[in-house]
Amino acid sequence: MNISNHAVTGAVIAIGVRQPVLALPLALASHFALDALPHFGYSQQGFNEAFKHRITYAQIGFSVMAGLLLVYLLRDQAAIVFLAAFLAVLPDFMWLYRYFGFERKGLEPPGGVITRFHKRIQWCERPWGIFIEVLFFGAMVAVLLRLL
Ligand SMILES: [Zn+2]
Repeated sequence: MNISNHAVTGAVIAIGVRQPVLALPLALASHFALDALPHFGYSQQGFNEAFKHRITYAQIGFSVMAGLLLVYLLRDQAAIVFLAAFLAVLPDFMWLYRYFGFERKGLEPPGGVITRFHKRIQWCERPWGIFIEVLFFGAMVAVLLRLL
């Protein structure tokens, strides 16, 4: 899932649960639950393949606009809500590290148990997943607006 969907889910968890000790680990765990849903991507072919397709830039544009909307909607929330949103996004920083630190330079990125797990749960990355991403974000914003 894109970072806006992870972030909105983390925020919804923090606002809905209202117990930081519970909400923060749930927000982090939500990352992997969302990644297990069908979503946008090119079947684990990485950023090199994704950047060859225009729809990837539409996906990035959607994610940026959704993120700005989310920041606006959360503008009066406590820092714990933003922390939960950040934790829900955090695992995807590994992909940036792998891409900019290794793949882009033609180097083999390091692997590990968490990387393999994070890859395997994303069993359905497809270009049409952008529709699921947009619908999911809309549904989560509807939930968020009911909680605010
Ligand atoms: Zn992920």
